[in-house]
Amino acid sequence: MFVTTLPIQDAKNPPVLKFPARCVHCGAATTETLPMNLSMGVQKRSKPVLLKFSLPMCAQGGRLERGVAKVTLVPFLVGGLLMGAAGFFLGAILTPAPPLATVQTRFLALAVGALVGLVAGILGGTALEAVCKLFFTPVYGKMLLARPLTAIEILSDTETYLGFSVALSKDKKQLRLTFEHDEVGREFQRLNS
Ligand SMILES: [Zn+2]
Repeated sequence: MFVTTLPIQDAKNPPVLKFPARCVHCGAATTETLPMNLSMGVQKRSKPVLLKFSLPMCAQGGRLERGVAKVTLVPFLVGGLLMGAAGFFLGAILTPAPPLATVQTRFLALAVGALVGLVAGILGGTALEAVCKLFFTPVYGKMLLARPLTAIEILSDTETYLGFSVALSKDKKQLRLTFEHDEVGREFQRLNS
């Protein structure tokens, strides 16, 4: 793991990242680049400013990166649906019937079922996603584990790819770049210093 930082003079004019012509996933020669964006959290002419960069990948790395949802989003959704449905039925069945059925109490079992199902779905999906990531780390690389779980990905200001991640500091004055391959990271640092 190689970590380097780049200063940002002006968040509205983000720096241009120069990558070596080597796959960030395995360090082999680049055969393709994947276009990526990182939001700078500021606006210019009422448009959000994006740091655009091209991530160098070999053919296999590119294929894995494009298919990474198979081991992150898909298990999260599958686990979430299964556990959510199970939680819903258990919650609905196990809710004791009110002694006097009124309009207010009629839907109590359904409401409890929905709540239990939602919580169970998020937990179940997250658990299955975590297991899948551990299982596929030998293929996808260690940075797969650094990818935030789908449930909290929307809250994160870090972009994680196979072998590479980039994060904007809270004060928007620094970029923190992490490389799974030390050599690729050191070459990147040389190109960008
Ligand atoms: Zn590669």
